[in-house]
Amino acid sequence: MRVMVLKEYNKPLVLEEREKPEPAEGEVVMKVSHCGICGTDLKISTGKLSSIVTIPYVPGHEIVGSIDAVGKNIRGIKEGDTGIAYFYIPCGECELCRNGSENVCYSIERLGFERDGGFSEYVRMPAYSFCGYTGKIAGEKLSVLPDAVATSYHAIKNRAALRIGQTVLIVGTGGLGIHAVQIAGLMGAEVIAADIKPGALDMAKTYGARDTFDPDSVDPLEAVMDCTSGKGADIVIDNVGTDDTLRWSLPSLKRGGTLVMVGYDPVNPVNVYPLGVHYNEWSIRGARVSTKQELLEVIDLVESGMIDPVVKKVIPLEAVNEGLDEIREGKHIGRIVLKIE
Ligand SMILES: [Zn+2]
Ligand SMILES: [Zn+2]
Repeated sequence: MRVMVLKEYNKPLVLEEREKPEPAEGEVVMKVSHCGICGTDLKISTGKLSSIVTIPYVPGHEIVGSIDAVGKNIRGIKEGDTGIAYFYIPCGECELCRNGSENVCYSIERLGFERDGGFSEYVRMPAYSFCGYTGKIAGEKLSVLPDAVATSYHAIKNRAALRIGQTVLIVGTGGLGIHAVQIAGLMGAEVIAADIKPGALDMAKTYGARDTFDPDSVDPLEAVMDCTSGKGADIVIDNVGTDDTLRWSLPSLKRGGTLVMVGYDPVNPVNVYPLGVHYNEWSIRGARVSTKQELLEVIDLVESGMIDPVVKKVIPLEAVNEGLDEIREGKHIGRIVLKIE
């Protein structure tokens, strides 16, 4: 089978021919039809997450396909079933798994991180990872659900606990953020969107943002105050999470508001103004992917037309390096997806 392998940091992925994997007991092997390319894949390829991956390995965690082989002791999945992978592999036993927070399981493994992922013709995974799907959503749109859509859903519904009528500021409306705009609107929020990419703000408006601004061309804090009658936003979803954004995204909160960090700078720490957090009772919460149940809910919302997964383009497996270059240039809106023939 063909795989695209990360062999060295800051070097292009390399095409390799490998043996097709066999499923162990409790596992399935999926024939991959589509795999999204995520900003995290870029962070990994540049060595910024070298503490969690071991090279050489195969990235790719937004995986869609059909079941090619089924291991022993599997119920309810058979060869030819189509579906999508929940790419977090929780232990199922620890206190976090038991209380419904499997996405932060103490001994989590992930497809496309600790385990080989979907930049490949076939991928091996536990049966639990497979979410069967036979509906009408196209493969390239389906592939962006496990991360680009479900992460935004978890951040807004669970971590921000958004209520109808609240004002939400979405910082960064790229691969994840354009879905956050849609989900916040769907849940009854007034949405403000901020981005520096050409065309991003028009697209955010198309998907329901009430107000938009480019933080490079206006004072971002003033812009937020202008469109919230001077009060600030109830919720900020920061998809960037660098010192550059947090210096204004956190103070954009209303008193008692909640900032959810979805994006993160993996290397550099950020400055937080403690008096502001204390005085205004701001909450700062992390958000990490989603639970499997939330992914299943997202599939239903997309199926019913309430969320539109935004895919910029579809390219072949061997063109993955060009896709990563486009993400590096930072001009894309919506996901780039690999189609694997
Ligand atoms: Zn990702
Ligand atoms: Zn666990």
